[in-house]
Amino acid sequence: MEDNKEEIISKNFIEQEIDKDLSEGVYNHVQTRFPPEPNGYLHIGHAKSILLNYGLAKKYGGKFNLRFDDTNPTKEKTEFVESIIEDVKWLGAEFDDRLYFASNYFQEMYDCAVLLIRKGKAFVCDLTADEIREYRGDFKTPGKESPYRNRSVEENLKLFEEMKDGKYKDGEKVLRARIDMSSPNINMRDPVIYRVARMTHHNTGDTWCIYPMYDFAHPIEDAIEHITHSICTLEFEDHRPLYDWVVKECEFENPPHQIEFAKLYLTNVVTGKRYIKKLVEDNIVDGWEDPRLVSIAALRRRGYTPESLRMFVDLVGVSKANSSVDYAMLEYCIREDLKLKRPRMMAILDPIKLVIDNYPEDTTEYLNVANNLENPELGERKVPFGKELYIEREDFMEEPIKKYFRLFPGNEVRLMNAYFVTCTGCEKDENGNVTVVHCTYDPETKSGSGFEGRKVKGTIHWVAASTAQEVECRLYENIVDEEKGKLNEDGSLNLNPNSLTVLKNCYVEPSFEGARAYDSYQFVRNGFFCIDCKDSTPEHLVFNRIVSLKSSFKIGK
Ligand code: ATP
Ligand code: MG
Repeated sequence: MEDNKEEIISKNFIEQEIDKDLSEGVYNHVQTRFPPEPNGYLHIGHAKSILLNYGLAKKYGGKFNLRFDDTNPTKEKTEFVESIIEDVKWLGAEFDDRLYFASNYFQEMYDCAVLLIRKGKAFVCDLTADEIREYRGDFKTPGKESPYRNRSVEENLKLFEEMKDGKYKDGEKVLRARIDMSSPNINMRDPVIYRVARMTHHNTGDTWCIYPMYDFAHPIEDAIEHITHSICTLEFEDHRPLYDWVVKECEFENPPHQIEFAKLYLTNVVTGKRYIKKLVEDNIVDGWEDPRLVSIAALRRRGYTPESLRMFVDLVGVSKANSSVDYAMLEYCIREDLKLKRPRMMAILDPIKLVIDNYPEDTTEYLNVANNLENPELGERKVPFGKELYIEREDFMEEPIKKYFRLFPGNEVRLMNAYFVTCTGCEKDENGNVTVVHCTYDPETKSGSGFEGRKVKGTIHWVAASTAQEVECRLYENIVDEEKGKLNEDGSLNLNPNSLTVLKNCYVEPSFEGARAYDSYQFVRNGFFCIDCKDSTPEHLVFNRIVSLKSSFKIGK
């Protein structure tokens, strides 16, 4: 009993509604769907919808469909169909062979419209779009009935057929549901359900010159596929009475139940298609998959994993109230996901040479290094070590500031996984910039040798110069900063000028042979990095920083 109670409390409101439907015998199974319009790339908000719908189907032992809501040919492109399929699969939302296109239901939709006409529930209307709007009224004013509202069934059937047969110009006539012009819900005031529009459809070509409106088409699509729970975002709440009206009047058995949840909004990101389009056109970002964007393709390119997005969606949960989620939470999830899974490598992003003056010339020593100290299952690798190394420029200071424990003349530090070294000085160029740091090492202090003689306060990482591979690293910051204001006064985006930093001569250990696109690593002290899928080649590796190691975001207490 105790356990049971807890389980109920932890369920979200959608699960509670599903439980109720199942216990009352409204349905004996669960079937959900993700219904994208193929008019753009999917973004993090869609990922939430996909994982939510898929997750519910899985939880209840039901099925999940992927259905393209392709009833509006003007904006749709086949290119998007393919990218959407790829994204849904990548997220792990399995739809098996249940890939559907709403356009394949055009005949059923037409038949439903005819049924409504026969029942006196739909009529052909000759008012113009402007007139229809005017007659509709508003929140304060009830609507006015169309003068065509009382056409006979026969006349409506004939006119609707003529609409289908191409007898009328675009916009000349529409089919409207005949519901209630005085309804307080404007969606119920005889909404348009079919329009004449000569548009070539990517799937049905020129077969149709009339197309159904979303509010009519969507419930029929759900009903045809025996969807039980049609989960959508809050803006459709006011459309639910129409949804219910359509499935009822079209006489579907066991009609679906629409449930709304709040859209996911993230801080400090740009999701609006209009803005992204402009960023792409102005060459500010590298296409829709630029790693600073939050399209699913961009997140994948940046190095996010399906697991991290699933964790994120679970943490965010579902709600009935719109709110924004901190971008840092997404970063928290990818850190958590990669922390134990990926090897920790040494990479130098801002190199300076370190020479160990008392180390033998032309000698390469191979040191055993654990791939991930917290996860012994990842094993060990051999890392070359020699007289000349690269270290981070910031790990040396000729005149140390207070509490600086790294290299400065006279100070001893540990070279991670290797020896203790004592800094002896540095060389400078004519401008006074440090070019080389010198030190001596103590052979007794080799890591793993059991040496416990002295303590040092600083440990720095390094890469052996003779075997180092030069690579490119790209560091990212958010493209906009909400605290500084997302938009300028003229409505344009207030862009962060530092959103991309390209570091061309970074050095990594020679352990990246065979690294492939999307492979990710922890670079000790520098963050998590992923091989760029677009620009990286085996000869010239390009890494995207997924996320730094530190975060201000804390989960729980
Ligand atoms: P956008 O305007 O951002 O492209 P959309 O709603 O037009 O979004 P659709 O292709 O119509 O995109 O949406 C497919 C599904 O994804 C719908 O069920 C929609 O409710 C859901 N969805 C879209 N944006 C979000 C979001 N930010 N959070 C959660 N679900 C979303
Ligand atoms: Mg849409």
